[in-house]
Amino acid sequence: MLNRRRFITGAAATAFAAPAILRAQSVFRAYPFSLGVASGEPAADGFVIWTRLAPEPLEQHGGMAMAPMPVTWEVASDEGFRTIVRHGEELARPELGHSVHVELTGLEPDRPYWYRFRAGGERSINGRARTLPATGASPAALRFGVAGCQNYGDGYFTAYRHLAREDLAFVYHYGDYIYEYRIDAVHPSRGGSLVAAARQGGEQDCFDLADYRARYALYKADTDLQRAHAAHSFFHTFDDHEITDNWVQDVDPDGAPTDLFRTRRAMALQAWYENLPVRRSMLPRYGAVSAHRSVRYGDLMKMEVLDTRQFRSDQPCEDGFKPSCPAVTDANAQVLGAEQEAWLARNLADRDSRWNCLAQQIMMMSLDRRTGDEPAKIMNMDSWAAYEVPRQRLLARMRGLDNVVVLTGDEHQNFAGILQSGDRPVAVEFVGTSISSGGDGSDQRRGSDRILAENPQLKFINDQRGYLTCEVTPDEWRTNFMVVDRVSTPGGALGKRATFAVARGQADLNQA
Ligand code: FE
Ligand code: CA
Repeated sequence: MLNRRRFITGAAATAFAAPAILRAQSVFRAYPFSLGVASGEPAADGFVIWTRLAPEPLEQHGGMAMAPMPVTWEVASDEGFRTIVRHGEELARPELGHSVHVELTGLEPDRPYWYRFRAGGERSINGRARTLPATGASPAALRFGVAGCQNYGDGYFTAYRHLAREDLAFVYHYGDYIYEYRIDAVHPSRGGSLVAAARQGGEQDCFDLADYRARYALYKADTDLQRAHAAHSFFHTFDDHEITDNWVQDVDPDGAPTDLFRTRRAMALQAWYENLPVRRSMLPRYGAVSAHRSVRYGDLMKMEVLDTRQFRSDQPCEDGFKPSCPAVTDANAQVLGAEQEAWLARNLADRDSRWNCLAQQIMMMSLDRRTGDEPAKIMNMDSWAAYEVPRQRLLARMRGLDNVVVLTGDEHQNFAGILQSGDRPVAVEFVGTSISSGGDGSDQRRGSDRILAENPQLKFINDQRGYLTCEVTPDEWRTNFMVVDRVSTPGGALGKRATFAVARGQADLNQA
């Protein structure tokens, strides 16, 4: 589309190249920082800062020419950028969708920094990042956020607008950053009634790199999401919808041949890398991302960020919500894969931290999902419950620690419950809802009362949208379930639906 502004700036850029003034200096036809800025992977001495040039985000290549473009960046120790502590230039390359990832090191621990980018005569918004405390420090407190599952068509990202205002050390993102399938203006609910999409865009399913790039652009142009990224440093993982619904390993649930699915997965993970503030070590290599990692918040908390997709065996019983079948107790089944599981076992055995947090994707509790008059236990086959042997193996490793908190997403509902090894409580699990997936919801879903009644280990269930905040001290962990009253229209109000406390040394939940 040749609009007037493009014509003017284009003409100005060629005719008055040298001493141009004001916005005529821009070499872009439109604002190139349309997808915002982000920081991530905070450590005690630095973090990653990110942006991606996309003057026309929904056009091919984001409206960029297929050439590298220099982007300068600054990191300041004050909000007004009076003291610049680092600066440099990076090339935004077409191979990576004109994204820029800068890994900062040598910064001071446990403090905020501010950053911004410039390119072609334009500048980005300012972002704020925060380093973690020194590894040897003994922090008195930690407050962090947990979010994920942000289906664009299902609703507005109002919860992110509220999250941006929270005082947090960082945000853990449990995945489903995008949804790969097409957004229909109208679709039938499970019961057959009419559901209208809250927002339009993304008319086709994603299969190749251009499709996934365009999907990220649609999402990242959302200004509530941009506010959250500009305010907080994120730890990102991926779940299923970054690639396709309920994939595991190299198995396509829709039955595509393995080698074709690997190709699709590689492209989806490249787009994931391009659009998020993750480290260069998380660039896909031979189609796979090294995504599990350990984060230390001094000696207060060790957070093991897990990958429950890339190494998992195929879902038993042909997936879905079903009665159990013999494959649920397959002794060879894997959730983390042998290497990641051994790595996690070593980290849990270290006992060098007040709290052990497992930041992961799929529910670890084995819940009976019956909501009506089903004759036998109904299980979610895309959760740890369907992999009973590795699930029990991991829970047995938590015996005697009594300081394990599991953080989960995927379910699009809030849950809080207790994890048991045999009949002994060994950990608690907090399942965060979704930013928008599932639409407005309501306090309780039809059948929620039955689920609570059938599962004594489950203490809380709620079906609204929102995020979690976790407040951690050496002796107590508190999780707040923050919910918004609607996502189908903008401007939803935030409320604190519930708070649960865990005393260190007791795998138990107390509603505050
Ligand atoms: Fe989801
Ligand atoms: Ca999911």
